[in-house]
Amino acid sequence: MRPVKILPSILAADFTNLGADAQAAMQAGGDIVHIDIMDGHFVPNITLGAPIIKCLRKATGLCFDVHLMISDPLRFIDDFADAGADIITVHTECGCPAESIKKIKEHGKSAALSIKPATSAEAVYPYLNELDMVLVMTVEPGFGGQKFIETTLPKIVQIRKRNPEIDIQVDGGINRDTAKLCKEL
Ligand code: ZN
Repeated sequence: MRPVKILPSILAADFTNLGADAQAAMQAGGDIVHIDIMDGHFVPNITLGAPIIKCLRKATGLCFDVHLMISDPLRFIDDFADAGADIITVHTECGCPAESIKKIKEHGKSAALSIKPATSAEAVYPYLNELDMVLVMTVEPGFGGQKFIETTLPKIVQIRKRNPEIDIQVDGGINRDTAKLCKEL
């Protein structure tokens, strides 16, 4: 079985204490810091931008996984790469997957594509060879603390079957029980 990594989301942190909270999450068993970027347009919520990541990067050498839930990722990939992202994820629903992957790779960063619950697994198939990771959203993106949507699970099986090597990330409603469901597929 492939090793499982845990990526605690920064949305669960105290925003006045991000550096220490990120370190604490890793000391508690986390592997990579997951940073959710929302623009109030692609999703109905706003979180944080590249300047915060830049500050956090000064505070820690941890791996940053930056999940862009924004309508125009092409416009901002440079900013997030320069701010210190290690992995950058864009949504297929934005309509510019190929250009985004190319831009992320030009910065020497790892590239990932994400699909919302209503988007089929097939949407990522054309890009699997260029990607480092696929992110299957297990809730509708926009807010933390939502209930896991079990109908997203078959997509994990489909993508794994299509590419046995690629990392598959799940995001939303993950707890002890739902993590088990994802892992046992
Ligand atoms: Zn996320």
